[in-house]
Amino acid sequence: MERIGYSRKIEDPAFKKYLKNTNRWAGMFGVVLALIAFVGFYIAGELGIDGVENPQGMMIGAGVGGMFLLITLYSIVSRKKSRTWDGVVIDKKVKNKTRRDDDDHVTHYTVYEVIIKEDNGKKHEIRVENDDTVFNYYKVGDRIRHHAGLNSYEKYDKTGDTIIFCAACGDINNIEDQTCHRCKCPLLN
Ligand SMILES: [Zn+2]
Repeated sequence: MERIGYSRKIEDPAFKKYLKNTNRWAGMFGVVLALIAFVGFYIAGELGIDGVENPQGMMIGAGVGGMFLLITLYSIVSRKKSRTWDGVVIDKKVKNKTRRDDDDHVTHYTVYEVIIKEDNGKKHEIRVENDDTVFNYYKVGDRIRHHAGLNSYEKYDKTGDTIIFCAACGDINNIEDQTCHRCKCPLLN
């Protein structure tokens, strides 16, 4: 079967619903974390744990809670600001790296990078550690489309592919399937 062209299935309302739910969950999670931080430090302040007294405990709680709220807000705003754009894969790189933690323990890992040039010249990078599935999926010269707010880069030409990444949750699916096995959004095949 020939699989050339960007899928019209991106217009399916399932994607709008997925984004709405993602933002709603992120918002609720952020608010709950912020409340836990505030209440936790308030209680620590009342009980004098670790020498913390109120109102100092409340202030720390408000600071930490506020930080959680800001991070949540940032993630929602950047998802909303995300645009749809077209580009082309211009390079792929494999880098062997080492990481040294506080205990001087050394870990070796590999970074797989796919470099995409947007039609307006801006460069984007997909980076995955220790997994070459995404790396092997794209070839230099592939035309791709990034869909606003979503996680994946759709290939214009999917001829010969056996897998496809869900545009919503990013999970791997069989290209013959109609909907993502994880989030049930339509697959752009
Ligand atoms: Zn999915």
